[in-house]
Amino acid sequence: MTRQNGGKTTRPAQRRPRAIQRSKQVNPFKTDVPFKIKDVKYCNSLSDEDETDGAAGGGDAEEMLRKMMQLKLGVGGEGEKKPKPKVLDSLDLDGIVSYIKSGKAKKIVTMAGAGISTSAGIPDFRSPGTGLYDNLQEYNLPDPQAVFDISFFRENPTPFYKLAKSLYPEESKFKPTPCHHFIKLLADKGLLLRHYTQNIDTLERLAGLSDELLIEAHGTFHSAHCTDNSCKKEYSQEWVKGKLSDI
Ligand SMILES: [Zn+2]
Repeated sequence: MTRQNGGKTTRPAQRRPRAIQRSKQVNPFKTDVPFKIKDVKYCNSLSDEDETDGAAGGGDAEEMLRKMMQLKLGVGGEGEKKPKPKVLDSLDLDGIVSYIKSGKAKKIVTMAGAGISTSAGIPDFRSPGTGLYDNLQEYNLPDPQAVFDISFFRENPTPFYKLAKSLYPEESKFKPTPCHHFIKLLADKGLLLRHYTQNIDTLERLAGLSDELLIEAHGTFHSAHCTDNSCKKEYSQEWVKGKLSDI
């Protein structure tokens, strides 16, 4: 150990944690574990590297790091040479289909966005030209996203209600797509662990997916509640639908 710990660039020794006060040779990466002789060796290899001209110390440090990575993370060294068993035959839809058909997939999680509902006729939010945000001019909003801003809603709820009315899920108006039916099929076969959706259109429910398999992460038209924080009374979809018909 050639390094002098004179406090030139560090705090005074008396203010340091006890583990470091015991010896300047303690591995700086292990100050919270009991001091061990083998740590001194690692510390020498690491901390002397930039202060000595010799390459030997660097080699030791590399070897030590390589072994540590191999041990802790299972990367590098011998482990890397063994090919991991393939899950999918191919990284495409065919590969996924054959994996599901093989019977090995038993807990499938699906995650969906607006794309699975656009073929049902429901506009997404951000597509230029056809997206909802591009078609809100008639509401005279300060900005398109204000239609979903709760502070704006409290001042002027009409734009939201008008938009909600145009999007309101009714079986006669919007029908679930093959994608929704596929997710329901997974559920029927007992393979679906959970379906996460960003969509508020309730088409998963219309396809018959049950409540316990469904996470509507961005909310849903299925239920509504009073926006008064001290109230929060729940209202049914039918109740809201009745109110929207007056708009
Ligand atoms: Zn209320």
